[in-house]
Amino acid sequence: VYNFSAGPAVLPLAVLEEVQAELLEWGHTGASVMEVSHRGGPFMQTAAQAEQDLRDLMGIPDNYKVLFLQGGATMQFSAIPLNLGFAGKRADYAHTGHWSKKAIADAKRFIDVNVVCDTSEEGYKHVPEASSWQLSDDAAYVHITPNETIAGVEFDWLPETQAPICADLSSTILSRPIDVRKYGLIYAGAQKNIGPAGLTIVIVRDDLLGHFPADAPRLLDYQVMAESDSMNNTPPTFAWYLAGKVFAWLKANGGVESMAQTNQQKASALYDYIDNSNGFYTNPVAVDSRSWMNVPFILADDQLDASFLAESHAAGLHALKGHRSVGGMRASIYNAMSVDGVTALIDFMDQFKAKHQ
Ligand code: PLP
Repeated sequence: VYNFSAGPAVLPLAVLEEVQAELLEWGHTGASVMEVSHRGGPFMQTAAQAEQDLRDLMGIPDNYKVLFLQGGATMQFSAIPLNLGFAGKRADYAHTGHWSKKAIADAKRFIDVNVVCDTSEEGYKHVPEASSWQLSDDAAYVHITPNETIAGVEFDWLPETQAPICADLSSTILSRPIDVRKYGLIYAGAQKNIGPAGLTIVIVRDDLLGHFPADAPRLLDYQVMAESDSMNNTPPTFAWYLAGKVFAWLKANGGVESMAQTNQQKASALYDYIDNSNGFYTNPVAVDSRSWMNVPFILADDQLDASFLAESHAAGLHALKGHRSVGGMRASIYNAMSVDGVTALIDFMDQFKAKHQ
């Protein structure tokens, strides 16, 4: 079966097999990894190795803290204005999709939000050029969502800003190399390109810490978590352990450079097929804003949606239903989706088209 779920999403089979083999007895602990203390040597070592491997993969400089948190990316929608809002009463937000809309709504509870661009009216079909963004002079930070998982809208460039850039990389982290030094903060829910749900990664420049409001929930204070190596309370140990295995798998498979090559190859094969299907399938996103990770496509005849989903499922191609707000189909093709999986999808789409056009 090939699983095209947008998240929680497919994990590398080799990683799952390793986890399966270790499930009842992990290392020499005589226990499952879920049953040992997070403060004991074996887990501390595993946790530290996971962080080091992520640092190696992304080239994270020493002046950035890497936090392994809970609460999902959504919790960061509030934690970010609380932690980074100190430098002003305003933050700039790009509104390029459903997730940036949610980030804006939560941030507004804590800080003035200046929306620098907004494509909601057009239904999120492209990302406006940075030169058109209405950045403010006094923003504490600039928030972007480089990959919008629902509409499949992506940009891999960064605007020129005075204020630190804060990026929701939930659905694109580790899909290609990025220069971490260009960001003040990066965050990502783990359940797409990293590991199981329940873990959220935050990578934050250390000079941005230490300004958290005294009356806000302490566990949202990045400094508290940084000072305790993300173990101020019990961390999501199983998810952390499994994420560590995915990082090791990525390193063993050529790292983010190699992922980028494969991801580009997968995405262009699928978009090429859609664009050349004589309108049987269409992708609504402007060509220069198309996501490598989430590829929505609409059938010209939506009466065929139900049979497309039933037949693709029967053919072993799962979770292709589009998000309810967009309709149609969506193929999420994260790092763990093989080229073979995408080829199988294209073959199926072609057979379905031949049968129904
Ligand atoms: N941001 C993006 C880009 C997402 O795709 C998602 C989830 O799909 C979220 C935020 C919300 O993540 P979580 O469910 O971890 O809070």
